[in-house]
Amino acid sequence: MKLLEGKRALIFGVANDHSIAWGIAKAMHKQGAELAFSYAAQALERRVRPLAESMGSTFVEQCDVTDDEQIEAVFKKVADELGNIDILVHAVAFAGREELEGHFHKTTREGFRVAMEVSVYSFLALARASLPLMPDGGCMLTLTFYASEKVFPNYNVMAVAKSALESTMRYLAADLGPRGIRVNAISPGPVRTLSAAGVGGFKRMYRDFPEIAPLRRHISLEDIGHSAVWLASDWARNVTGEVLFVDSGYNILGAFSPNETSDP
Ligand code: NAD
Repeated sequence: MKLLEGKRALIFGVANDHSIAWGIAKAMHKQGAELAFSYAAQALERRVRPLAESMGSTFVEQCDVTDDEQIEAVFKKVADELGNIDILVHAVAFAGREELEGHFHKTTREGFRVAMEVSVYSFLALARASLPLMPDGGCMLTLTFYASEKVFPNYNVMAVAKSALESTMRYLAADLGPRGIRVNAISPGPVRTLSAAGVGGFKRMYRDFPEIAPLRRHISLEDIGHSAVWLASDWARNVTGEVLFVDSGYNILGAFSPNETSDP
């Protein structure tokens, strides 16, 4: 028996085959889940549709998560064409490139608003829209980053957004627990994606990561996918409101001990 046999997942955040959402989709599909996809903008359809079809999914709908009407429309379509869902995956974030480098104190009002709306409020909006489709409980997942807790250069307003996202995740978990809905976040180490490329100095952080992280290796899409499968499965039936680090242990460090100084 596969871990997600008989479960249906609605996935937001695939932009291409490097997206974390795609890694999660692949792992969930392998474990028997039926998948439905939503992408941000028309220009992405030509990338997302073939990916979805490669795993037998024909539900591929556009939805800009800043638009309540589009959110309503996509969930209505899910309800009409597929029925209920068991899993919601929110792997969506955005901040202007100019907000992701240099001084944090230069963050603009508009830059702050956009980052919070796309990267935080959208999770609340999608969670609420999912409720009628989760009458017997379910699982909601979002993606965060350790910059929510500790300062990382250039993450700036996105770090603040991730703090708010983690808090939103906990409030949703408390609110929706009585309905049998579990809400969790995965906090991966750096992965080379479209969004990550927008963060100043990302390449260097990515390069240095396996020198520093206790397990001395990068995080793959598969690693994140496997953790998402576990969180979405009944094996995690009493896990909610958690941030699960998938970061080769990076978050436990107080000081760095470089590769060459440690014993094999
Ligand atoms: P990605 O660029 O592949 O995915 C981000 C997605 O957000 C894209 O599909 C994009 O279309 C979507 N999006 C942006 N604005 C949107 C809007 N208005 N409406 C709908 N969708 C919108 O990059 P990714 O790294 O896979 O990002 C997925 C999540 O993982 C993000 O929350 C990101 O912060 C988080 N994360 C990434 C890393 C990393 O190193 N890549 C590490 C930790 C957490």
